[in-house]
Amino acid sequence: MSTFQAPKGTYDLTPPRSAKFLAVREAISAPLRDSGYGYIETPGFENVELFARGVGESTDIVTKEMYTLTTKGGDQLALRPEGTASVLRAALEANLHKAGNLPVKLWYSGSYYRYERPQAGRYRHFSQVGAEAIGTEDPALDAELIILADQAYRSLGLRQFRILLNSLGDKECRPVYREALQSFLRDLDLDEETRRRIEINPLRVLDDKRADVQKQLTDAPKLRDYLCDACKAYHEEVRALLTAAGVAFEDDEKLVRGLDYYTRTTFEFVHDGLGSQSAVGGGGRYDGLSEMIGGPELPSVGWALGVDRTVLALEAEGVELDLPATTSVYAVPLGEEARRVLFGVVTELRRAGIAADFAFGGRGLKGAMKSANRSGARYTLVAGERDLAEGVVQLKDMESGEQSAVPLAEAAAELAKRLG
Ligand code: ATP
Ligand code: MG
Repeated sequence: MSTFQAPKGTYDLTPPRSAKFLAVREAISAPLRDSGYGYIETPGFENVELFARGVGESTDIVTKEMYTLTTKGGDQLALRPEGTASVLRAALEANLHKAGNLPVKLWYSGSYYRYERPQAGRYRHFSQVGAEAIGTEDPALDAELIILADQAYRSLGLRQFRILLNSLGDKECRPVYREALQSFLRDLDLDEETRRRIEINPLRVLDDKRADVQKQLTDAPKLRDYLCDACKAYHEEVRALLTAAGVAFEDDEKLVRGLDYYTRTTFEFVHDGLGSQSAVGGGGRYDGLSEMIGGPELPSVGWALGVDRTVLALEAEGVELDLPATTSVYAVPLGEEARRVLFGVVTELRRAGIAADFAFGGRGLKGAMKSANRSGARYTLVAGERDLAEGVVQLKDMESGEQSAVPLAEAAAELAKRLG
């Protein structure tokens, strides 16, 4: 322990558990990379205004959860609380949408920051892998993203997750619904803050977690009854494509995103083993966002999956990931001369692509063999004065316990052969 600890609401990823995070990032991004999504990386902070506009002034993220700062030069910045606004900003800045190749399909992976009340599955620093498909309105694109997330979770061995699906309508039908909802909500018995929300962001009220609020919402007008024909047809097509792909989903008409530039398809992935922080990922269509941040009309769809909660979900289900062994060969030198020789063999193995490690620090045989065991290596190489005099090393198979002397010059080749 040093004088310092990780800041409140954060935690360190340390071995061996950190390997799961790498595996989750890899598993989520693999289907994207195989489906035409290119990797994008943006700064960890942006102009605060980008998020105010691109996430929404009336959202919790912007009003309560953002880490903002003023630089010494006087710039107002915020640590990124989410990825979509930054990715769209970057795509517009690089003119990716002008290459005549729509949709622009991008994926990202990184750290995000929200000033939240820390609890299990809810942190102030967390990690997401996300995907955005920019510039095309096509139900197959919405379906593609949901199918790829489903594929990613399944490839990890997750089973107890569910996909919730809804349509939020568009700029034709949503305003009509919004008004109907507002006049319904105004008659309810609600606190001041919620009353204010009715005026700025009424759909968000549907999302209220409190039981006394939910009780009053039973007869709220339903968006489904207000969808225009174009939105209905679009949504039916997304549903049909998912069904044809064998991806199960649940219609959830309470699933909302409060802002006007979120349109049509919206979805969330929930896991039943996580208690109240059950959302492992979410996304949807954001046809108006580009214009909100000063860009051209670019209908788009995307999602972000939480890496931290995905790892918790794996642990809740008791899924053991098939993690690649980190070390295949562990070398144990006995004496100065053996140290030089075996270090050379280890270097040779590594250059041949074989994962190898070494007992550093001139420890005795017993301690070094313990480390060899802990490393999970399939083979150990041991050499002392006498072995070197005979020009051999002792090669031990840690699974069978069998040990044999192998000519030093052939050790690397022999290991390569045995490890296939
Ligand atoms: P919640 O309703 O749980 O606050 P959210 O709607 O704020 O989630 P999104 O902005 O859609 O979440 O982010 C996508 C995913 O990122 C979430 O489904 C979740 O897995 C993860 N995530 C969001 N906030 C946090 C957090 N504070 N700590 C850990 N993971 C988070
Ligand atoms: Mg949140």
